[in-house]
Parts: sequence; structure tokens; C-alpha cells
Amino acid sequence: MSNPIGYCNETLNPARGCVCVSPGCQHCYARTMTQRFGKEEKAWDGTIRLQLHTLNRIGHWRKRRVCFLGDMTDLFQKDMPPHVIIETLARVRTAPQHIFLFLTKRPERMWQRLREEPVLSNVWCGATCEDQTRLVERAPHMAALAKSGWHTWASCEPLLGILDWSQVTWRPRWIVIGGENGTGARKMFPGWAQRAAIPGVPLWFKGWGSAFQPCGPGTMLQLPRERPWLSTRT
Ligand code: SF4
Repeated sequence: MSNPIGYCNETLNPARGCVCVSPGCQHCYARTMTQRFGKEEKAWDGTIRLQLHTLNRIGHWRKRRVCFLGDMTDLFQKDMPPHVIIETLARVRTAPQHIFLFLTKRPERMWQRLREEPVLSNVWCGATCEDQTRLVERAPHMAALAKSGWHTWASCEPLLGILDWSQVTWRPRWIVIGGENGTGARKMFPGWAQRAAIPGVPLWFKGWGSAFQPCGPGTMLQLPRERPWLSTRT
């Protein structure tokens, strides 16, 4: 794996920039990287910089890739120009041999944008569910996407509390769980990680994060690292 995300081996950003929307944004990786290494673009003020030419890289991949689309932005934020999603989907459609992962904290907008689009079997639509409030808010839109036939997944990272999946009807086909990293990271407790898993749903455990390292009885959970598209090509 060639990037810090771990479960994919490629990232593409047809746009960069975002604004914070929920508690999971507090230590946003994209903002940290932009402010640390960005040259002309240190501001994280909602300015969106388009770089649609990066999608051309898809045509050069010879081996099968699992590509995270938009790790330096949220492609479904309000001010994202509509043609960014249209052009991204058009390129993704030409590459059914690769897997593409969307992830958003605005699944209501993802549902709005994708509801009229033909379902793509190589696309997985994800929503961040960092706490129970966000899970309850976001699950209905994800359930609608799943009902329409899209693969859906949940990113419980950074996991900030107990999740109770019995309070929502959405059942993602894959769950990622992880603690927060970086300066000022918040703790993820082992019981939270256990509760966020759904029996029978493939799970990728990304790690405890930098605020908590498990030690002692009951904390050394053996959580798996599974990726469902390796066993299913539906
Ligand atoms: S939605 Fe994602 S990219 Fe945007 S500020 Fe929040 S964590 Fe960062």
C-alpha cells in the first residue's frame, strides 16, 4: 500500500479544498497537509481548486487499482461544481477493472447527485459516521443509495463515541474503523471499536490512532482487515 489510508493503493483528487462540517473534521488530514505543505493554497476556507486533469491517470494504470477519490476534499460539498462529479463518473465508467471509493460527510448531497445516475458496480459510496448523531443523520441517505443498488460503506474514523446500528435501517457492505491521529488526537476506546462493528459485515480496522495504545487484558482486540471487493465483483 502506497498511501497512509491503507485499504487503497491509489488516490485521486479532481478537486482540493473543503470546509469543516462536523466533529470528525476537527483534525482534518487534508487541512493539515494543505497547511503544512501547500504552496499557494494554505487557506482552508472553502476555496475549491479544480484539477480534473488528474483523472487522466486512470487511463495509465495497467494493474488493478483500488482508488480513493477525493482524500483532499469532500467531492459532495455544497460548492463543488456539478461538472466535477459528472466528469469523475464518466472516467470511472471507462475503467470497470478498478475499484473507486467515494467518501463524504454530506451523504444527502451524494444521494442527490447519484440518484439519477446509472449504478456503477466498481464504485463504493461511503459516509463518515464518527458518532451516533452523525450516524443517525447520514444513514437515511446511505440507505437510499443502497436501495438504489449502489455499494455503500461506512467510515467510522475518527470514531468519537459509541455507535448503535440498531437505531438505523442502513446496513453498509463494508465498515472501516479507526482512531484519530496527529497532534491533539482524541481517544478511541476498545469498546467503541467493538460496538461499531456489525456481525457479518466485512471490517477494516485501521488502527487505534495516536491518542491511545492498547495494553493489558481486554484491549488487545484482534480486529480484521477485510476488503469485500476482493471476494465479490458484483
Ligand atoms: S469533510 Fe473531510 S475534507 Fe472536508 S473538512 Fe471535513 S474532514 Fe476535511
